[in-house]
Amino acid sequence: MKVAIVGAGQLGRMLAQAAYPLGIATEFYDKSADTPGGQVAPIVTGEFDDLAKLTALAGRADVVTFDWENVPVASLEAMRRATPVCPDPGVLAVAQDRLLEKTLFRDLGIPTPPFAPVDLRSDLAAAIRRIGRPGILKTRRFGYDGKGQARIRTARDDDRAWAALGGEPLIYEGFVDFTREVSLIAARSRRGERAYYPLTENVHEHGILASSSSPCRSPRLQAAAERHVGAILERFGYTGVLAVEFFVAKGALIANEMAPRVHNSGHWTIEGAVTSQFENHLRAILGLPLGSTAARGHAGMVNFVGRVPRLERALAEPGLHLHLYGKREARPGRKLGHATVVASTAKARDRALGRLLRLR
Ligand code: AMP
Repeated sequence: MKVAIVGAGQLGRMLAQAAYPLGIATEFYDKSADTPGGQVAPIVTGEFDDLAKLTALAGRADVVTFDWENVPVASLEAMRRATPVCPDPGVLAVAQDRLLEKTLFRDLGIPTPPFAPVDLRSDLAAAIRRIGRPGILKTRRFGYDGKGQARIRTARDDDRAWAALGGEPLIYEGFVDFTREVSLIAARSRRGERAYYPLTENVHEHGILASSSSPCRSPRLQAAAERHVGAILERFGYTGVLAVEFFVAKGALIANEMAPRVHNSGHWTIEGAVTSQFENHLRAILGLPLGSTAARGHAGMVNFVGRVPRLERALAEPGLHLHLYGKREARPGRKLGHATVVASTAKARDRALGRLLRLR
């Protein structure tokens, strides 16, 4: 069996690593060979709109998937004429646009922050009149890790936010005064089998995921999250892993965004769950039985952003599982690796997580 992976970042690399023990071959596609994925499996290089190259790759695979959300939908549509593409490019089209995404949530009865589309300066004024401040102005497309966002706290921020982002299609969202952020990672196979991981609690710094802990035990929130994510899975007849991020405010879930792919907040599943999100994504898209999503203990994960710890120092930490992505350039804000610990109690996990945070 062979899986073609469009995008050869760290997510693709960890998919390829999960494919090896199952005897599943992978082949990447990205602009450069010296990428996290290209270092561990064969890769074809080219532009993301080179339909001839992409279609030839699809023709060599049993299924096509992607590790990057900004792959042009038209490229995946072209590949689909040769080979099934999972998840469906139609879901990616929704996830690429914050307005379509929030509209989907609303249509499915999933709570969201109040939102309004903003194309003109006058739309922003109208949105602020309706939704109020504080709020966040975001680009509808190509925003990730807090990029393409401007906070609006007082009237003085309106012009500054517009000057920073105006001219592109935007969305204005009411600011959610949340107590916690959580995510749910789910898998649905080609055969319709579904599985949900335990909820994960996430801490962001400057809009970038800093650390995750799981399980975040709340049977009530777990059930609500599974209901919401299940509705998205069924709407699309979804195939693969899907991650949805929520705010917890006044004890209830408010959906922020979804990612139709394996997700950073699920990296703990490599060591902390019976079957990792990467393996379950492969199983789902190949129509194989899904593996158990049960936690093996209490997991904590820390991202290394902009710099990585010295190997000697990190590996002195008992029980640490280190994953470095092989990126040559250490730019600020760039995810370069992560580390996970799995402990037998939440308390022990929190202590270990504190030590991992100090490695950064
Ligand atoms: P995003 O790129 O939409 O995931 O935003 C990155 C981070 O910014 C989120 O994880 C939150 O910490 C924060 N954020 C985004 N939207 C909102 C909102 N409407 N209210 C409060 N915080 C937000």
